[in-house]
Amino acid sequence: MTPRIALNGRLSTVKCFSTRSPEETVALGRELGREFGPPCLVLLEGELGSGKTTLVKGIVAGLGAAPEEEVHSPSFTLVHEYGRDRKVYHVDLYRIEGGARELETLGLEDLVEQNATVLIEWGEKLDALGLAPQVRIRLEHLGGDHRRITVERLGKDGRQ
Ligand code: ADP
Ligand code: MG
Repeated sequence: MTPRIALNGRLSTVKCFSTRSPEETVALGRELGREFGPPCLVLLEGELGSGKTTLVKGIVAGLGAAPEEEVHSPSFTLVHEYGRDRKVYHVDLYRIEGGARELETLGLEDLVEQNATVLIEWGEKLDALGLAPQVRIRLEHLGGDHRRITVERLGKDGRQ
């Protein structure tokens, strides 16, 4: 059974996966991506090397926006854009300190307001902005190539 928990007045559904290789993580991303049609804000959390960018490769491919080989970390440019009709924005906040003012200058709200899928690495830094993500994904090292990937879906107004 999928557990449902209440968080800030919104219902959430939590699913836990584990992968044992980068390829498995990409494959999981493909499956998940099919369900992240726009508008959808997805926050990815987890330490460096936990597999956020690897998962995003699969998600972008699953959405049909670009092949996984074309997806790379936007650490320096902050935002990558994929797809034509259906836009996917891939954001990496690694180099951002996380203060509300610095975040506001990035224009993330504008991306979120477009009919797009927005994938944000280091999404925990966004808490200050008070955006309402549809999905929160946490990635954790379990030793070697083993990762735990927890996907939490947040329903609007307490509904799924
Ligand atoms: P992040 O974006 O969180 O910093 P990356 O996806 O860039 O992480 O890097 C993850 C690294 O860990 C890659 O070098 C990848 O090959 C390796 N890796 C090993 N096992 C896995 C796994 N199960 N899932 C994802 N990446 C893995
Ligand atoms: Mg990354």
